[in-house]
Amino acid sequence: MKQTGLIWFNNDLRVHDNPALLEASLHCQRLICLFCYDSHWFKPTGLNARPLGDTRHRFLNQSLMDLSDQLARRGQSLIVVSGEPVAVISDLIRRFKVEALYRSDHVGVYENRQWQHLKADFPRLEFVSLSSHTLFRPEQLPFTLTSLPESFSRFRRQVEALDIDPPLMMPKQLSAPVEALTEESQGFAISDAEQSLFEGGERAALAQLEAYFSSDRPAHYKHWRNELDGWSNSTKFSPWLANGNLSVRRLLKRLRDFEQEQVANESTYWIFFELLWREYFQWVARKLGHKLFSAQGVAKNKKQCCFYPERYQKWCHGNTPYPLVNALMNQLNQTGYMSNRGRQIVASCLVNELQLDWRFGAAYFEQQLIDYDVASNWGNWQYIAGVGMDPRGGRHFNIDKQTRQFDPEGRFIRDWQGEVTAPQLDSVDAADWPILPGKPTQ
Ligand SMILES: Cc1cc2nc3c(=O)[nH]c(=O)nc-3n(C[C@H](O)[C@H](O)[C@H](O)COP(=O)(O)OP(=O)(O)OC[C@H]3O[C@@H](n4cnc5c(N)ncnc54)[C@H](O)[C@@H]3O)c2cc1C
Repeated sequence: MKQTGLIWFNNDLRVHDNPALLEASLHCQRLICLFCYDSHWFKPTGLNARPLGDTRHRFLNQSLMDLSDQLARRGQSLIVVSGEPVAVISDLIRRFKVEALYRSDHVGVYENRQWQHLKADFPRLEFVSLSSHTLFRPEQLPFTLTSLPESFSRFRRQVEALDIDPPLMMPKQLSAPVEALTEESQGFAISDAEQSLFEGGERAALAQLEAYFSSDRPAHYKHWRNELDGWSNSTKFSPWLANGNLSVRRLLKRLRDFEQEQVANESTYWIFFELLWREYFQWVARKLGHKLFSAQGVAKNKKQCCFYPERYQKWCHGNTPYPLVNALMNQLNQTGYMSNRGRQIVASCLVNELQLDWRFGAAYFEQQLIDYDVASNWGNWQYIAGVGMDPRGGRHFNIDKQTRQFDPEGRFIRDWQGEVTAPQLDSVDAADWPILPGKPTQ
Protein backbone atom coordinates (compact mmCIF):
# COMPACT_ATOMS: atom_id res chain seq x y z
CA MET A 1 0.00 0.00 0.00
CA LYS A 2 1.33 3.43 -0.94
CA GLN A 3 1.05 6.41 1.38
CA THR A 4 0.15 8.98 -1.28
CA GLY A 5 -0.87 8.66 -4.92
CA LEU A 6 -1.95 11.17 -7.53
CA ILE A 7 -4.48 10.62 -10.30
CA TRP A 8 -4.26 13.00 -13.21
CA PHE A 9 -7.72 13.27 -14.82
CA ASN A 10 -7.80 14.10 -18.50
CA ASN A 11 -10.34 12.63 -20.93
CA ASP A 12 -11.80 10.28 -18.30
CA LEU A 13 -14.00 12.68 -16.32
CA ARG A 14 -16.16 10.10 -14.61
CA VAL A 15 -16.36 7.73 -11.67
CA HIS A 16 -18.01 4.75 -13.42
CA ASP A 17 -15.82 2.33 -15.36
CA ASN A 18 -12.67 4.24 -14.53
CA PRO A 19 -9.93 1.63 -13.98
CA ALA A 20 -7.20 4.15 -13.11
CA LEU A 21 -9.33 5.70 -10.37
CA LEU A 22 -10.20 2.30 -8.90
CA GLU A 23 -6.60 1.12 -9.03
CA ALA A 24 -5.30 4.31 -7.41
CA SER A 25 -7.89 4.18 -4.67
CA LEU A 26 -7.16 0.53 -3.97
CA HIS A 27 -3.42 1.01 -3.60
CA CYS A 28 -3.03 4.44 -1.98
CA GLN A 29 -4.03 5.55 1.50
CA ARG A 30 -4.26 9.16 0.42
CA LEU A 31 -5.06 10.25 -3.10
CA ILE A 32 -4.75 13.57 -4.90
CA CYS A 33 -7.39 13.87 -7.65
CA LEU A 34 -6.11 16.48 -10.08
CA PHE A 35 -7.38 18.19 -13.19
CA CYS A 36 -5.03 20.70 -14.81
CA TYR A 37 -6.19 23.38 -17.25
CA ASP A 38 -3.19 23.42 -19.55
CA SER A 39 -2.25 27.03 -20.35
CA HIS A 40 -1.47 25.96 -23.91
CA TRP A 41 -5.19 25.24 -24.56
CA PHE A 42 -6.02 28.94 -24.52
CA LYS A 43 -3.36 30.19 -26.94
CA PRO A 44 -3.75 30.19 -30.74
CA THR A 45 -1.65 27.55 -32.44
CA GLY A 46 0.28 27.92 -35.72
CA LEU A 47 -2.95 26.86 -37.44
CA ASN A 48 -4.76 29.98 -36.36
CA ALA A 49 -7.16 28.46 -33.81
CA ARG A 50 -7.25 27.87 -30.06
CA PRO A 51 -7.22 24.24 -28.87
CA LEU A 52 -10.12 24.93 -26.48
CA GLY A 53 -13.01 27.06 -27.72
CA ASP A 54 -15.69 28.67 -25.53
CA THR A 55 -18.46 26.09 -26.01
CA ARG A 56 -16.27 23.14 -25.11
CA HIS A 57 -14.72 25.09 -22.27
CA ARG A 58 -18.18 25.50 -20.78
CA PHE A 59 -18.95 21.79 -21.28
CA LEU A 60 -15.63 20.93 -19.65
CA ASN A 61 -16.40 23.15 -16.65
CA GLN A 62 -19.76 21.44 -16.22
CA SER A 63 -18.03 18.06 -16.43
CA LEU A 64 -15.57 19.08 -13.74
CA MET A 65 -18.32 20.39 -11.50
CA ASP A 66 -20.10 17.06 -11.76
CA LEU A 67 -16.91 15.06 -11.26
CA SER A 68 -16.11 17.13 -8.20
CA ASP A 69 -19.54 16.30 -6.80
CA GLN A 70 -19.26 12.59 -7.63
CA LEU A 71 -15.87 12.41 -5.92
CA ALA A 72 -17.13 14.32 -2.86
CA ARG A 73 -19.93 11.77 -2.42
CA ARG A 74 -17.21 9.13 -2.17
CA GLY A 75 -15.06 10.98 0.34
CA GLN A 76 -12.67 12.55 -2.18
CA SER A 77 -12.15 16.03 -3.59
CA LEU A 78 -11.12 17.32 -7.01
CA ILE A 79 -8.27 19.78 -7.26
CA VAL A 80 -8.51 22.02 -10.35
CA VAL A 81 -5.41 24.01 -11.24
CA SER A 82 -4.34 26.08 -14.26
CA GLY A 83 -0.78 25.95 -15.52
CA GLU A 84 1.74 23.81 -17.28
CA PRO A 85 0.86 20.21 -16.26
CA VAL A 86 4.42 18.90 -15.91
CA ALA A 87 5.32 21.80 -13.61
CA VAL A 88 2.07 21.52 -11.62
CA ILE A 89 2.41 17.75 -11.13
CA SER A 90 6.14 17.88 -10.37
CA ASP A 91 5.44 20.42 -7.64
CA LEU A 92 2.73 18.22 -6.10
CA ILE A 93 4.92 15.11 -6.26
CA ARG A 94 7.69 16.89 -4.36
CA ARG A 95 5.51 18.66 -1.80
CA PHE A 96 3.35 15.68 -0.89
CA LYS A 97 5.87 12.87 -1.41
CA VAL A 98 3.71 11.19 -4.03
CA GLU A 99 4.76 7.58 -4.64
CA ALA A 100 2.56 6.64 -7.61
CA LEU A 101 1.06 8.55 -10.51
CA TYR A 102 -2.09 7.29 -12.29
CA ARG A 103 -3.91 8.28 -15.45
CA SER A 104 -6.05 6.82 -18.23
CA ASP A 105 -4.31 6.07 -21.53
CA HIS A 106 -4.33 8.99 -23.93
CA VAL A 107 -3.57 8.94 -27.66
CA GLY A 108 -2.42 12.59 -27.83
CA VAL A 109 1.23 13.07 -28.77
CA TYR A 110 1.48 16.17 -26.62
CA GLU A 111 -0.14 14.46 -23.60
CA ASN A 112 2.18 11.46 -23.95
CA ARG A 113 5.23 13.69 -24.16
CA GLN A 114 4.21 15.21 -20.81
CA TRP A 115 3.80 11.73 -19.31
CA GLN A 116 7.24 10.67 -20.60
CA HIS A 117 8.74 13.88 -19.30
CA LEU A 118 7.43 13.12 -15.79
CA LYS A 119 8.70 9.55 -16.04
CA ALA A 120 12.18 10.80 -16.87
CA ASP A 121 12.14 13.36 -14.03
CA PHE A 122 10.88 10.90 -11.38
CA PRO A 123 12.46 7.51 -12.16
CA ARG A 124 11.62 6.07 -8.73
CA LEU A 125 7.92 6.84 -8.92
CA GLU A 126 5.44 4.19 -10.02
CA PHE A 127 3.58 5.19 -13.22
CA VAL A 128 0.25 3.52 -14.02
CA SER A 129 -1.65 4.26 -17.24
CA LEU A 130 -4.80 2.21 -17.91
CA SER A 131 -7.11 1.94 -20.85
CA SER A 132 -10.53 3.59 -20.42
CA HIS A 133 -11.27 5.43 -23.68
CA THR A 134 -11.57 2.46 -26.05
CA LEU A 135 -13.60 -0.73 -26.34
CA PHE A 136 -10.47 -2.88 -26.41
CA ARG A 137 -7.30 -2.94 -24.39
CA PRO A 138 -4.15 -2.99 -26.59
CA GLU A 139 -3.37 -6.59 -25.63
CA GLN A 140 -6.83 -7.74 -26.81
CA LEU A 141 -6.20 -6.73 -30.41
CA PRO A 142 -5.33 -9.58 -32.80
CA PHE A 143 -2.54 -7.49 -34.42
CA THR A 144 0.24 -5.21 -33.29
CA LEU A 145 0.04 -1.48 -33.95
CA THR A 146 2.62 -1.79 -36.69
CA SER A 147 0.38 -4.20 -38.56
CA LEU A 148 -2.87 -2.31 -37.89
CA PRO A 149 -5.13 -2.94 -40.94
CA GLU A 150 -5.01 -0.01 -43.34
CA SER A 151 -8.69 0.18 -44.12
CA PHE A 152 -11.58 0.42 -41.69
CA SER A 153 -13.34 -2.58 -43.28
CA ARG A 154 -10.39 -4.86 -42.65
CA PHE A 155 -10.03 -3.55 -39.10
CA ARG A 156 -13.74 -4.12 -38.42
CA ARG A 157 -13.71 -7.67 -39.72
CA GLN A 158 -10.84 -8.56 -37.41
CA VAL A 159 -12.24 -7.04 -34.23
CA GLU A 160 -16.02 -7.13 -34.32
CA ALA A 161 -16.36 -10.62 -32.84
CA LEU A 162 -13.83 -10.08 -30.03
CA ASP A 163 -14.94 -10.12 -26.42
CA ILE A 164 -15.18 -6.72 -24.78
CA ASP A 165 -14.57 -6.21 -21.06
CA PRO A 166 -17.72 -5.49 -19.07
CA PRO A 167 -17.72 -1.97 -17.55
CA LEU A 168 -16.50 -1.61 -13.97
CA MET A 169 -18.99 -0.64 -11.29
CA MET A 170 -19.13 2.74 -9.56
CA PRO A 171 -16.99 2.67 -6.40
CA LYS A 172 -18.93 3.44 -3.18
CA GLN A 173 -15.96 4.93 -1.34
CA LEU A 174 -12.55 6.19 -2.43
CA SER A 175 -9.37 6.63 -0.43
CA ALA A 176 -8.93 9.85 1.54
CA PRO A 177 -7.96 13.20 -0.02
CA VAL A 178 -4.92 15.26 0.94
CA GLU A 179 -6.67 17.83 3.10
CA ALA A 180 -3.98 20.50 2.87
CA LEU A 181 -4.59 20.77 -0.87
CA THR A 182 -8.32 21.35 -1.01
CA GLU A 183 -7.96 25.10 -0.57
CA GLU A 184 -5.53 25.39 -3.49
CA SER A 185 -8.14 24.34 -6.04
CA GLN A 186 -8.90 27.26 -8.32
CA GLY A 187 -12.42 26.15 -9.21
CA PHE A 188 -14.27 27.03 -12.39
CA ALA A 189 -17.06 29.39 -13.29
CA ILE A 190 -20.14 28.68 -15.39
CA SER A 191 -22.36 31.44 -16.64
CA ASP A 192 -26.06 30.52 -16.53
CA ALA A 193 -26.70 32.96 -19.34
CA GLU A 194 -25.07 30.62 -21.84
CA GLN A 195 -27.42 28.00 -23.17
CA SER A 196 -26.23 24.85 -24.83
CA LEU A 197 -27.72 21.74 -26.40
CA PHE A 198 -25.46 19.60 -24.26
CA GLU A 199 -24.75 19.63 -20.55
CA GLY A 200 -21.38 18.33 -19.47
CA GLY A 201 -20.87 15.69 -16.78
CA GLU A 202 -21.31 12.05 -15.96
CA ARG A 203 -24.85 12.47 -14.67
CA ALA A 204 -26.06 14.17 -17.85
CA ALA A 205 -24.25 11.48 -19.88
CA LEU A 206 -25.94 8.62 -18.06
CA ALA A 207 -29.30 10.40 -18.32
CA GLN A 208 -28.87 10.65 -22.13
CA LEU A 209 -27.84 6.98 -22.24
CA GLU A 210 -31.04 6.00 -20.44
CA ALA A 211 -33.26 8.38 -22.40
CA TYR A 212 -31.94 7.16 -25.75
CA PHE A 213 -32.24 3.46 -24.99
CA SER A 214 -35.64 3.87 -23.34
CA SER A 215 -36.97 5.18 -26.65
CA ASP A 216 -37.43 3.30 -29.91
CA ARG A 217 -34.75 5.41 -31.66
CA PRO A 218 -32.00 2.73 -31.56
CA ALA A 219 -34.24 0.48 -33.65
CA HIS A 220 -34.38 3.15 -36.41
CA TYR A 221 -30.88 4.63 -36.08
CA LYS A 222 -29.64 3.65 -39.53
CA HIS A 223 -32.56 5.32 -41.26
CA TRP A 224 -32.09 8.73 -39.61
CA ARG A 225 -28.41 9.02 -38.77
CA ASN A 226 -27.49 11.11 -41.83
CA GLU A 227 -30.07 13.83 -41.18
CA LEU A 228 -28.51 17.26 -40.80
CA ASP A 229 -30.56 18.39 -37.81
CA GLY A 230 -32.70 16.99 -35.00
CA TRP A 231 -31.76 15.79 -31.54
CA SER A 232 -33.05 12.23 -31.85
CA ASN A 233 -31.74 11.47 -35.35
CA SER A 234 -28.47 10.16 -33.98
CA THR A 235 -27.36 9.13 -30.50
CA LYS A 236 -25.63 12.45 -29.53
CA PHE A 237 -23.25 10.54 -27.23
CA SER A 238 -20.12 12.06 -28.79
CA PRO A 239 -19.47 15.01 -26.40
CA TRP A 240 -19.76 12.75 -23.36
CA LEU A 241 -17.60 10.07 -24.94
CA ALA A 242 -14.96 12.62 -25.94
CA ASN A 243 -14.68 14.04 -22.43
CA GLY A 244 -14.92 10.62 -20.85
CA ASN A 245 -18.15 11.43 -19.02
CA LEU A 246 -19.45 8.23 -20.58
CA SER A 247 -17.53 4.99 -20.88
CA VAL A 248 -17.77 3.46 -24.33
CA ARG A 249 -17.90 0.00 -22.68
CA ARG A 250 -20.87 1.07 -20.59
CA LEU A 251 -22.54 2.38 -23.74
CA LEU A 252 -21.95 -0.92 -25.52
CA LYS A 253 -23.37 -2.86 -22.56
CA ARG A 254 -26.56 -0.73 -22.71
CA LEU A 255 -26.80 -1.36 -26.46
CA ARG A 256 -26.50 -5.12 -25.91
CA ASP A 257 -29.22 -4.96 -23.20
CA PHE A 258 -31.49 -3.11 -25.63
CA GLU A 259 -30.86 -5.78 -28.23
CA GLN A 260 -31.78 -8.51 -25.77
CA GLU A 261 -34.79 -6.81 -24.27
CA GLN A 262 -36.23 -4.90 -27.25
CA VAL A 263 -34.92 -5.66 -30.68
CA ALA A 264 -31.66 -6.45 -32.45
CA ASN A 265 -31.71 -5.31 -36.06
CA GLU A 266 -29.58 -3.62 -38.70
CA SER A 267 -29.93 -0.27 -36.94
CA THR A 268 -28.71 -1.50 -33.57
CA TYR A 269 -25.81 -3.21 -35.35
CA TRP A 270 -25.05 0.11 -37.04
CA ILE A 271 -24.58 1.87 -33.69
CA PHE A 272 -21.90 -0.72 -32.91
CA PHE A 273 -20.50 -0.21 -36.41
CA GLU A 274 -20.09 3.54 -35.74
CA LEU A 275 -18.44 2.84 -32.40
CA LEU A 276 -15.98 0.69 -34.33
CA TRP A 277 -15.21 3.69 -36.54
CA ARG A 278 -14.40 5.58 -33.37
CA GLU A 279 -12.29 2.68 -32.20
CA TYR A 280 -10.45 2.47 -35.52
CA PHE A 281 -9.43 6.15 -35.35
CA GLN A 282 -8.19 5.70 -31.77
CA TRP A 283 -5.75 3.00 -32.87
CA VAL A 284 -4.83 4.86 -36.05
CA ALA A 285 -3.89 7.87 -33.90
CA ARG A 286 -1.71 5.71 -31.68
CA LYS A 287 0.02 4.27 -34.66
CA LEU A 288 0.58 7.54 -36.53
CA GLY A 289 1.78 9.67 -33.60
CA HIS A 290 2.82 13.10 -34.88
CA LYS A 291 2.02 12.10 -38.49
CA LEU A 292 -1.64 12.53 -37.57
CA PHE A 293 -1.02 16.28 -37.68
CA SER A 294 1.28 16.55 -40.67
CA ALA A 295 0.01 17.92 -44.01
CA GLN A 296 1.13 14.86 -45.92
CA GLY A 297 -0.01 12.42 -43.24
CA VAL A 298 0.97 8.97 -44.47
CA ALA A 299 0.26 9.70 -48.13
CA LYS A 300 2.98 8.73 -50.56
CA ASN A 301 2.83 11.96 -52.55
CA LYS A 302 2.69 15.43 -51.11
CA LYS A 303 -0.54 17.20 -52.03
CA GLN A 304 -0.08 20.67 -53.43
CA CYS A 305 -2.21 23.35 -51.82
CA CYS A 306 -1.95 27.04 -51.06
CA PHE A 307 -3.30 29.06 -48.22
CA TYR A 308 -5.97 31.59 -49.14
CA PRO A 309 -6.77 33.55 -45.95
CA GLU A 310 -9.94 35.00 -47.44
CA ARG A 311 -11.37 31.60 -48.39
CA TYR A 312 -10.51 30.22 -44.96
CA GLN A 313 -12.21 33.14 -43.19
CA LYS A 314 -15.29 32.71 -45.37
CA TRP A 315 -15.45 29.00 -44.60
CA CYS A 316 -15.12 29.57 -40.84
CA HIS A 317 -17.81 32.26 -40.83
CA GLY A 318 -20.29 30.48 -43.11
CA ASN A 319 -19.89 32.99 -45.92
CA THR A 320 -18.96 30.81 -48.92
CA PRO A 321 -20.77 30.58 -52.26
CA TYR A 322 -22.38 27.31 -51.01
CA PRO A 323 -25.60 27.76 -48.97
CA LEU A 324 -25.45 24.28 -47.42
CA VAL A 325 -21.87 24.76 -46.25
CA ASN A 326 -22.76 28.18 -44.79
CA ALA A 327 -25.74 26.75 -42.89
CA LEU A 328 -23.62 23.90 -41.51
CA MET A 329 -20.83 26.23 -40.38
CA ASN A 330 -23.39 28.52 -38.71
CA GLN A 331 -24.78 25.49 -36.89
CA LEU A 332 -21.29 24.55 -35.72
CA ASN A 333 -20.45 28.09 -34.60
CA GLN A 334 -23.69 28.49 -32.67
CA THR A 335 -23.98 25.05 -31.05
CA GLY A 336 -20.56 23.38 -31.10
CA TYR A 337 -22.17 20.40 -32.85
CA MET A 338 -22.68 19.22 -36.43
CA SER A 339 -23.98 15.93 -37.78
CA ASN A 340 -21.54 13.45 -39.27
CA ARG A 341 -22.85 14.06 -42.79
CA GLY A 342 -22.50 17.82 -42.26
CA ARG A 343 -18.88 17.42 -41.13
CA GLN A 344 -18.09 15.36 -44.21
CA ILE A 345 -19.61 17.99 -46.52
CA VAL A 346 -17.84 21.01 -45.03
CA ALA A 347 -14.52 19.17 -44.75
CA SER A 348 -14.73 18.05 -48.38
CA CYS A 349 -15.59 21.63 -49.39
CA LEU A 350 -12.54 23.03 -47.60
CA VAL A 351 -10.23 20.49 -49.22
CA ASN A 352 -11.71 20.24 -52.72
CA GLU A 353 -13.67 23.38 -53.58
CA LEU A 354 -11.63 25.86 -51.54
CA GLN A 355 -8.32 24.02 -52.10
CA LEU A 356 -7.10 24.76 -48.58
CA ASP A 357 -4.68 22.88 -46.36
CA TRP A 358 -6.89 20.37 -44.48
CA ARG A 359 -5.06 21.01 -41.20
CA PHE A 360 -6.58 24.49 -40.90
CA GLY A 361 -10.04 22.94 -41.08
CA ALA A 362 -9.14 20.32 -38.48
CA ALA A 363 -7.73 22.98 -36.14
CA TYR A 364 -10.89 25.08 -36.51
CA PHE A 365 -13.00 22.01 -35.68
CA GLU A 366 -10.78 21.39 -32.66
CA GLN A 367 -11.59 24.87 -31.39
CA GLN A 368 -15.33 24.79 -32.16
CA LEU A 369 -16.50 21.21 -31.60
CA ILE A 370 -18.04 20.38 -28.25
CA ASP A 371 -17.16 16.71 -28.89
CA TYR A 372 -13.59 17.33 -30.02
CA ASP A 373 -11.57 14.16 -29.74
CA VAL A 374 -8.01 14.20 -31.03
CA ALA A 375 -8.19 10.81 -32.76
CA SER A 376 -11.70 11.14 -34.26
CA ASN A 377 -11.17 14.68 -35.46
CA TRP A 378 -7.73 14.51 -37.04
CA GLY A 379 -8.33 10.97 -38.28
CA ASN A 380 -11.59 11.89 -40.06
CA TRP A 381 -9.99 14.97 -41.60
CA GLN A 382 -7.05 12.94 -42.88
CA TYR A 383 -9.49 10.40 -44.28
CA ILE A 384 -11.41 13.05 -46.25
CA ALA A 385 -8.23 14.81 -47.38
CA GLY A 386 -6.85 11.47 -48.61
CA VAL A 387 -3.68 11.56 -46.53
CA GLY A 388 -4.65 8.95 -43.93
CA MET A 389 -4.14 5.21 -43.72
CA ASP A 390 -6.94 4.33 -46.13
CA PRO A 391 -5.39 3.41 -49.49
CA ARG A 392 -8.43 4.57 -51.49
CA GLY A 393 -7.56 8.29 -51.37
CA GLY A 394 -9.79 11.18 -50.27
CA ARG A 395 -13.52 11.83 -50.42
CA HIS A 396 -15.15 14.49 -52.58
CA PHE A 397 -18.81 15.21 -51.80
CA ASN A 398 -20.86 16.87 -54.52
CA ILE A 399 -22.44 19.79 -52.66
CA ASP A 400 -25.39 20.22 -55.05
CA LYS A 401 -26.22 16.55 -54.84
CA GLN A 402 -25.92 16.54 -51.03
CA THR A 403 -28.21 19.58 -50.87
CA ARG A 404 -30.84 17.88 -53.03
CA GLN A 405 -30.63 14.71 -50.98
CA PHE A 406 -30.50 16.06 -47.43
CA ASP A 407 -32.19 19.46 -47.69
CA PRO A 408 -34.54 19.15 -50.67
CA GLU A 409 -36.88 21.91 -49.44
CA GLY A 410 -34.12 24.22 -48.24
CA ARG A 411 -35.37 24.10 -44.67
CA PHE A 412 -32.01 23.46 -43.03
CA ILE A 413 -30.46 26.28 -45.06
CA ARG A 414 -33.24 28.66 -43.98
CA ASP A 415 -33.10 27.59 -40.31
CA TRP A 416 -29.35 28.21 -40.16
CA GLN A 417 -29.25 31.29 -42.40
CA GLY A 418 -27.09 29.74 -45.09
CA GLU A 419 -28.12 32.14 -47.89
CA VAL A 420 -25.18 33.31 -49.94
CA THR A 421 -24.20 36.93 -49.41
CA ALA A 422 -20.85 36.76 -51.22
CA PRO A 423 -21.22 34.77 -54.47
CA GLN A 424 -17.57 35.28 -55.40
CA LEU A 425 -15.07 32.98 -53.71
CA ASP A 426 -12.20 35.45 -54.01
CA SER A 427 -12.45 39.23 -54.01
CA VAL A 428 -9.22 39.40 -56.04
CA ASP A 429 -9.16 37.41 -59.25
CA ALA A 430 -6.31 36.58 -61.57
CA ALA A 431 -6.86 39.72 -63.68
CA ASP A 432 -6.27 41.91 -60.61
CA TRP A 433 -2.89 40.46 -59.76
CA PRO A 434 -0.16 43.06 -59.94
CA ILE A 435 1.98 42.88 -63.05
CA LEU A 436 5.49 41.86 -62.14
CA PRO A 437 8.15 44.42 -63.06
CA GLY A 438 9.89 43.54 -66.29
CA LYS A 439 7.14 41.22 -67.47
CA PRO A 440 5.64 42.24 -70.82
CA THR A 441 1.95 43.15 -70.86
CA GLN A 442 -0.20 41.84 -73.68
C1 LIG B 1 -14.25 15.97 -40.44
C2 LIG B 1 -14.82 15.21 -39.25
C3 LIG B 1 -14.43 15.52 -37.96
C4 LIG B 1 -14.93 14.80 -36.85
N1 LIG B 1 -14.51 15.14 -35.59
C5 LIG B 1 -14.97 14.41 -34.52
C6 LIG B 1 -14.54 14.70 -33.20
O1 LIG B 1 -13.68 15.58 -32.96
N2 LIG B 1 -15.06 13.96 -32.18
C7 LIG B 1 -15.98 12.96 -32.39
O2 LIG B 1 -16.42 12.34 -31.43
N3 LIG B 1 -16.37 12.66 -33.63
C8 LIG B 1 -15.92 13.33 -34.71
N4 LIG B 1 -16.35 13.02 -35.96
C9 LIG B 1 -17.20 11.83 -36.14
C10 LIG B 1 -18.73 12.04 -36.13
O3 LIG B 1 -19.08 13.08 -37.00
C11 LIG B 1 -19.28 12.33 -34.74
O4 LIG B 1 -18.80 11.38 -33.82
C12 LIG B 1 -20.81 12.25 -34.73
O5 LIG B 1 -21.36 13.10 -35.68
C13 LIG B 1 -21.31 12.59 -33.34
O6 LIG B 1 -22.71 12.57 -33.27
P1 LIG B 1 -23.47 11.36 -32.57
O7 LIG B 1 -22.87 11.08 -31.24
O8 LIG B 1 -24.92 11.64 -32.61
O9 LIG B 1 -23.07 10.19 -33.55
P2 LIG B 1 -23.81 8.81 -33.91
O10 LIG B 1 -24.11 8.81 -35.36
O11 LIG B 1 -24.93 8.57 -33.01
O12 LIG B 1 -22.68 7.72 -33.68
C14 LIG B 1 -22.49 7.06 -32.41
C15 LIG B 1 -21.07 7.26 -31.96
O13 LIG B 1 -20.19 6.63 -32.90
C16 LIG B 1 -18.98 7.37 -33.02
N5 LIG B 1 -18.82 7.80 -34.41
C17 LIG B 1 -19.77 7.94 -35.36
N6 LIG B 1 -19.22 8.29 -36.54
C18 LIG B 1 -17.89 8.39 -36.33
C19 LIG B 1 -16.78 8.71 -37.16
N7 LIG B 1 -16.89 9.00 -38.45
N8 LIG B 1 -15.55 8.75 -36.60
C20 LIG B 1 -15.36 8.47 -35.28
N9 LIG B 1 -16.39 8.14 -34.46
C21 LIG B 1 -17.63 8.09 -34.98
C22 LIG B 1 -19.12 8.58 -32.11
O14 LIG B 1 -18.50 8.28 -30.89
C23 LIG B 1 -20.62 8.72 -31.92
O15 LIG B 1 -20.97 9.32 -30.71
C24 LIG B 1 -15.87 13.74 -37.08
C25 LIG B 1 -16.27 13.45 -38.39
C26 LIG B 1 -15.76 14.17 -39.46
C27 LIG B 1 -16.22 13.83 -40.85
